[in-house]
Parts: sequence; structure tokens; C-alpha cells
Amino acid sequence: MSSWEQNVRKVTPYTPGEQPRGEQVIKLNTNECPYPPSPMVAEAINHGDKNRLRLYPDPEASELVSAIADYYHVNQNQVFVGVGSDDVIGMAFLTFFNSDKPVLFPDITYSFYDVWADLFQIDYVTKPLNQNFEIVTEDYLGENGGIIFPNPNAPTAVELGLTQIEEIVRSNQDVVVIVDEAYADFGDVTALELIEKYDNLLVVRTYSKSRAMAGMRIGYAIGNEKLIAAMKAVKFSYNSYTMNMTSIDAGVAAIMDDAYFQKIVSQILKTREQAKEKLSELGFTFTDSKTNFLFAKHNSMRAEVIFEELKKRNIYVRYFNKPRIDNFLRITIGTDDEMDKLYRVLKEIIAADTKLETDTE
Ligand code: PMP
Repeated sequence: MSSWEQNVRKVTPYTPGEQPRGEQVIKLNTNECPYPPSPMVAEAINHGDKNRLRLYPDPEASELVSAIADYYHVNQNQVFVGVGSDDVIGMAFLTFFNSDKPVLFPDITYSFYDVWADLFQIDYVTKPLNQNFEIVTEDYLGENGGIIFPNPNAPTAVELGLTQIEEIVRSNQDVVVIVDEAYADFGDVTALELIEKYDNLLVVRTYSKSRAMAGMRIGYAIGNEKLIAAMKAVKFSYNSYTMNMTSIDAGVAAIMDDAYFQKIVSQILKTREQAKEKLSELGFTFTDSKTNFLFAKHNSMRAEVIFEELKKRNIYVRYFNKPRIDNFLRITIGTDDEMDKLYRVLKEIIAADTKLETDTE
């Protein structure tokens, strides 16, 4: 090994879901929205003055911050924006998790948390979800250096109630508690209503799922102004111009079109509830999803086999070969047509497997 190699930072990176291309592909593996963004987004992008692209964007992304602040009825100094919620959460780890005590998060959760902790050399302890994949509130009441969990959780799709969230935030007022609400628009609960009451609570959200803009990379955090000021200080110590002009414009346009947002979210919820029925008929069980995906297990076929068979037929879902969840599939809710195709193909795969079993008996 050459000497410079010894000084390379050793990291095990996060593995994002595959991004297969092609007309024929049905992509239900990274929880994107199956519908396009609001038509107002295309308009905002196409009609912007291209000449201004030679200039740097507004480092504060003030227009976007102000549109988000208005939408949630908070002050602008309570909003932080970043390049997807990954950027926002990464920045929050760097800003808030600097104690000698370990940061806490669930054992089954968004698999980027341990990657950031390792990258920033933050000590952490994972707390096991119970058998129903629920967060056990008591596990988060002891001494710690900070807490993060998604609500609803991913990839389990299970939601924690507001009372339990408040108990965690209230019992940990000497550290920052981050609630990652990537999927909250599809659920019943938000911690946003607690931010005026607790200055140690940061709520993180994204445009990638419910606002159909994963490709644009916009995420944001809402919290007490001191938290936001601290995050901004770290951001401006690293990269001032995180938000490009196009995404600022697109982000403003999307948040203004609330009617469209409500329409696509309710369509996804409708399809999700249908999917629960259809997949039950096919022998699947799942958690009570409050997200735009189902976390499903089949009563006879191994998840990994179903995953491979679907892939052969150009349908991509997500499979995690990890302890406790290695017999589950995470299936993003697509359009009704995509889901119908999924049910048809699953039926064939399961029938072929059952036939194989009876033939070899
Ligand atoms: N949090 C959770 C729980 C997620 O599932 C994701 C999506 N992979 C993110 C954050 C990050 O999303 P984005 O960076 O696209 O906003």
C-alpha cells in the first residue's frame, strides 16, 4: 500500500437503490412518486431567465426558504434548506452530534444514519424495534448524545404516535432530537406541531416523495431559530451555494401548488389501500403502512426469490439482506397501472413456485 493510501478516510458508503432506465421498467424500489411534479414546476424551470445562470445563486435560497416558511406558518429563520434531505440530515449530524455520549437510532431504519455517524466519527448505539417493528419509547429516555429516527420509519413503514414522540423530545431536552419526516405526508402524524414548544426538536422533510421531485434534490429542516442558525453556520463553513437557481425556482413553484400536491398524495393513499387488499389476496402480510410503500412478507416464498423473479421481468422492488428484515420486500406504491402489472406478475411467480413445489413432492 502506498503511503498516501494509509491516510485515506475509510468509509463504507450508503448503497442507494438501483436506478434502472428504460421504457419497460416498472420502478418500485426507491419510493419515488409515480406522478410528475406540478405543471407549475415545468413552467418555472422553462421560463426562468437563462442569462442569470452565469451568476451565483442566492446563498440563503431566501425565496425557497420564505415559500416553505409561509406554507408551514413559521418564520424564515426557522427553516433550513439543502440538496435533498440527505444533505440536510448530514449537515444536522455534523452540527448537533458532537457529544462524548452515543447518538441513538433504531436498529432497523434508514441505512444512511450509521454511514454519516461513521463518516463524522460519531459514536452511536442502535435500539431494537419491537417484534411489530415499533420504536420502543423507553429505549430513548436514558443518557445519550442525540437522537434521530424517521417517522414513519423506513423501511418498516410504521408510524410512531405524537404522544410518544413528545415524550422522547421532552425527556431529552439537553440534546437535539431529529425527526426525519421523509414520508410524513402519507401518514397521520407530524412533529411539526411541537417545534414551538421544544427548542431541541428538528423536523426534516423532503420534496423527493410527496412532491414528486427526487431528481431536483430539495430537502428542508424546520425547528427553533437557534438550531437553524447553528446549521447555517456549519453549511457556510462547508459550501455556501448548495441550492442551485433552478431548484430554488422549482421548489417555490411546487409548494405554491397545494391543490396538485393534495391530489397526488390522496391518489397514492388510495392505491396504497388497494395494494394492501390485492397483496393480502396473494398471500402477503405487511405492517400498517403510513408511507408510500409497503413492507411485505410472503407466507410461502422467500422475499429474495420474489425480488429476483420480479427483476427478471423488469419490475424493481427493494430487498435488504439484513438481519430481521431479510424476508421482507419494500414495495413503492406506483400508478394503478403499474400496480396492476405487479399483481399479475406476482400471481404468475407465486403460481409457478407452488407448482414447482407440488411437482417435486
Ligand atoms: N430519510 C429517509 C427515511 C429516506 O427514506 C430518504 C430517501 N432515501 C431520505 C431521508 C433522503 O431523501 P432525499 O435526500 O431524496 O430527500
